[in-house]
Amino acid sequence: MLNKILGKFSKDLGIDLGTKNTLVYVNENGIAANEPSVVAVNMRTDEILAVGDEAKKMVGKTPAHIQTIKPLVDGVISDFEVTEKMLKYFIDKVHSESFTLVPRPRVIIGIPLDITEVERKAVEDAAKSAGARQVHLIEESMAAAIGARLPVTEPTATMVVDIGGGTTEIAVISLGGVVTWKSLRIAGNEFDNNIIEYIREEFNILIGEQVAEEIKIRIGSATPLKEPISMEVKGRDLINGLPKAVKITDSQIREAIGRTIKQIVDNIKTTLETTPPELVSDIYEHGIFLTGGGALLRGIDKEIAQNTKIPVRVADDPLTCVVRGTGILLSDPELLSKIILPGSEEL
Ligand code: ADP
Ligand code: MG
Repeated sequence: MLNKILGKFSKDLGIDLGTKNTLVYVNENGIAANEPSVVAVNMRTDEILAVGDEAKKMVGKTPAHIQTIKPLVDGVISDFEVTEKMLKYFIDKVHSESFTLVPRPRVIIGIPLDITEVERKAVEDAAKSAGARQVHLIEESMAAAIGARLPVTEPTATMVVDIGGGTTEIAVISLGGVVTWKSLRIAGNEFDNNIIEYIREEFNILIGEQVAEEIKIRIGSATPLKEPISMEVKGRDLINGLPKAVKITDSQIREAIGRTIKQIVDNIKTTLETTPPELVSDIYEHGIFLTGGGALLRGIDKEIAQNTKIPVRVADDPLTCVVRGTGILLSDPELLSKIILPGSEEL
């Protein structure tokens, strides 16, 4: 009852706590924060120096006593305290009008499919100590599907593949639940690692993570391009320690990331193999939907379609599907009650 009254006044939030990016949706206002999941900490004083965009600028450039921490690894909390502070920063940022009269927000958070009870509880506790009054946990794949406007509660199956930074979540959804799924600890970050490794092996040049990501975004692709593209990459020559530049082409990057793409494709196939035939025929009809930042890799839809013989579509604005899904759920309690995870607080 009290919650019902509080609920009338509080600004409820939907949060996508990603390995790479954290997004916050404020009921009725839309996406209010979208920043990297990075925190800069002064190790001497334990003080938080910066969060999000500001902290990301410091990555790789800090003196010894400052550390930039990515508190989520493979979609789960690896540093509880820092996650809590990061969430507090985001909640305060969008809830700043919260002079004492405004009740603390109700929060919906998406979590990965392959997560233990302890990890789930950690997300809930972190959100509570960061200022949430009530926390509802939902599956990220479900949020992504809802954000992509797929008919998740109908008796028809849809397949969503969310390729994020740390994890790829493959899920078949029907009647408000996840029927078959696979969660891989390979995704966008692994492409970056593949690129670092390739450039080290082929050219004896060391590049950092951010440069690798930039290469992936600028010239990365899963299938050959109509027009070849290339770029100049600067790194440290491992032989003499000096800076060196080389030209890298799209086909080299395809070679570098090929095996990771193959792993993703193979796991989509295995998930289809374990899916009941009636649902597979629905998926054939509606296609596979891609969400998450990895869906933006050129040709990844084509590559998956060729290998599964199923049409593949990239959702609109794939980076924001999960948070927009939580946003839809904030204003649709009936839908939320149909898909909420057991163990979450009741509505
Ligand atoms: P998470 O949910 O883990 O925070 P996101 O869904 O935000 O992840 O996606 C982040 C990943 O998407 C990163 O690995 C990033 O490099 C990748 N990414 C973003 N834009 C592109 C692009 N245009 N091409 C390829 N990868 C991209
Ligand atoms: Mg994500």
